[in-house]
Amino acid sequence: MVKKDIAKNINSDLHASFAIIGGSSTHSIDFPVGQAKVKILDEKEIDTPYGKSPQFRLFEYNGKKILTCKMHGWRNGISRADASMQVFWVLQQAGVKTILGEGGVGALSKRLKTRDLIIPHDFVDLSSRRNLVLNGSHLLIMREPFCQNIQKAIVNSCVDEGKERVFEEGVYVCTDGNRFETKAEINMMKNWGDIVGQSLGPEASLARDIGACYGSLQMVVNYAEGIVGQWDYDEFKDIFFSESQSIANILLKSLSLLDEKASCQCANQRKKSLLK
Ligand SMILES: [Zn+2]
Repeated sequence: MVKKDIAKNINSDLHASFAIIGGSSTHSIDFPVGQAKVKILDEKEIDTPYGKSPQFRLFEYNGKKILTCKMHGWRNGISRADASMQVFWVLQQAGVKTILGEGGVGALSKRLKTRDLIIPHDFVDLSSRRNLVLNGSHLLIMREPFCQNIQKAIVNSCVDEGKERVFEEGVYVCTDGNRFETKAEINMMKNWGDIVGQSLGPEASLARDIGACYGSLQMVVNYAEGIVGQWDYDEFKDIFFSESQSIANILLKSLSLLDEKASCQCANQRKKSLLK
């Protein structure tokens, strides 16, 4: 009964209704340490059926309890599939119902600019992290993969933060990583979507699997290979360090706007499986 014992431990210690899965846009700061109105309540790694989890922080912000981890839970020596299973197992056991994700992406079009903010409305998952399922008891309908309440809150927070180039829609093409894509791969993908990254597909699927609402904020950090001549590594590095505080502000503002009791369509897209 190891699973039950672990779950009991999490429920008593780390219960939270909200989560932020950190990505590259908040990686350079010790999010959310030092943010206004944030009170850190706990920090710990959790034993899960899929191995020890990444470090989670539990914090309080505007009366809400929020769990967060860095860089999608990815660590050297742990497969990204295992990392995702660890992260979402912890979120499920903690009772999380609303999840915000963030990340840096490559632009698949010249029309986008670096530092543009995209709130994706759909995705194509080319990652090979298969069997990413925690429950397996539901048919996961992906007609609308992202929670409209979260998307609206993120868009409004971006505008409130003074951002001018905010795209309320966009298709995210998700690859497996860890490397960036080849020119030939991008030539194929540019007809499929607007931005390319490595995290969103598995996270959106697992969020629906555990019955949580999910929304995501993506910042363009470079051009995908072959879209312009050579993309600028110095600017890529500058974005990594200089935009983190602003993204942290947007994520926290978005949380303030979200009411966990607000109605949405997410639950209607998770039906009992007919398979036995
Ligand atoms: Zn929802």
